[in-house]
Amino acid sequence: MQYISTRNLGVHCSASRAIAQGLAGDGGLLTPFFIPKLPGKALGDMTAMAYQQRAVYIMKQFLEEFSVKELTDFTAAAYGPDKFDTPAVAPVRAVEPGTYCLELWHGPTCAFKDMALQMLPHLLSASLAKIEEPRTACILAATSGDTGKGALEGFKDVPRTRILVFYPKDGVSRVQEFQMVTQEGANVGVCAVRGNFDDAQTGVKKLFADEALREELAGKGYFFSSANSINWGRVLPQIVYYISAYCDLLRDEKITPGQAVNVCVPTGNFGNILAAWYAREMGVPIQKLICASNANDALTDFLSTGVYDRNRDFHQTISPSMDILVSSNLERLLFFLTQDAAQVKGYMEELSATGRYQVSDRVTEKLNRHFKGYRCDDQRTKETIRAVYHRAGYLIDPHTAVAFSALERYREETGDATPAIVVSTASPFKFCGSVLEALGERETAQGLDAMDQLSAKTGIPVPAPLAGLRGKRVRFDQVVDKDRMAEAVLSLLG
Ligand SMILES: *Cc1c(COP(=O)(O)O)cnc(C)c1O
Repeated sequence: MQYISTRNLGVHCSASRAIAQGLAGDGGLLTPFFIPKLPGKALGDMTAMAYQQRAVYIMKQFLEEFSVKELTDFTAAAYGPDKFDTPAVAPVRAVEPGTYCLELWHGPTCAFKDMALQMLPHLLSASLAKIEEPRTACILAATSGDTGKGALEGFKDVPRTRILVFYPKDGVSRVQEFQMVTQEGANVGVCAVRGNFDDAQTGVKKLFADEALREELAGKGYFFSSANSINWGRVLPQIVYYISAYCDLLRDEKITPGQAVNVCVPTGNFGNILAAWYAREMGVPIQKLICASNANDALTDFLSTGVYDRNRDFHQTISPSMDILVSSNLERLLFFLTQDAAQVKGYMEELSATGRYQVSDRVTEKLNRHFKGYRCDDQRTKETIRAVYHRAGYLIDPHTAVAFSALERYREETGDATPAIVVSTASPFKFCGSVLEALGERETAQGLDAMDQLSAKTGIPVPAPLAGLRGKRVRFDQVVDKDRMAEAVLSLLG
């Protein structure tokens, strides 16, 4: 299958080049030329398969030049019992009648980024071999928390890759910092930057653009690469769990073959919900895609009006992984709906010039037909955590709570009682402070102790990867000024 740029149909390449390269040369996103349809009986056939087998079957449709043997090895390494604490990998939990929760946080960092970041490094490493790239990929990442740790765990000890993560010294939680500085693996490096997330991110962008550094690294056999969420190798593994969830519901006779479901997704960069859209295109009978946002609500407005406008206040919320003004992966949906690269290019140019664009009436009409957006502020997020816990005995994190709130609003507004899959993106133990407050605790413990407090309050054990942090040795203690990051790269690469 060919991959094309969302901004120019003339730019096309193989799957392995798309994954190795990350972004198209013209700034567009490399995207499959068409979305393959699953054969009629595929959903039924897959009910009997393990998650790993489903992943091989689905990814193979997009990755012609990868053999079944390769994909089988990758899924075994990415989703094995040493990485995920349940053989189901992405289990579906019945929360209330007609409401199912797809839990995407059973991996090594307890957040949904693991679903893609456990797979991407294998796809990338093999892609480099296929395109005969002799150098090692040096992945650079700036992180405000979850992505950095997810990338470190995913790339740990994967051949042909090195991974260096920069985080703002005072911009991540104590738990998140500890998760990173204790990271194991021979090919990893972690460095704190004096400043905030923006300083770290700007610094990493400068590293990518630093010609002298690039040359020095080439001499050592490295080239810079990135693992961000617009890489096709991150979107593809996410399609799998939507199809898998539908198969689980079929297998457990919660739904009948062909029965429609709705999905409700806590959304930031639009990667997760985009994967649901592709699953729908492949043949999963998904009726409505409910896009849940926190107070950063550019998508909520866009889905109802067709106007995307990033000119608005940025809110720091208790669901920080969704604190985002520009949802990059939306570009792929626009390309799908318009089938017009010139039009998409125009929208993106307007976005970068004015911070705003308006899609055509035809596209707005299509968006309205399939998507519905809702916003949820911190107050309502906490009320939802408390309500779901009291009503259903089910503990959720703030991101997941934003989604539960959206589903509730949608059902109130439309009366649509179609079975719904709510996507749960993080373990509540990653956000103990907010969750404890939501449950009415007045005093909350600091750092790792808050996990024990939440566990004592709810009777739910702390997930092993988080509980295991206590015994870990600090491996990385370097702190640099933001204009000294190039030296840090060289010293970390040794
Ligand atoms: C990244 C993230 C999201 C947002 O996902 P997108 O694919 O960026 O829309 C939601 N919840 C959590 C916990 C995340 O880490």
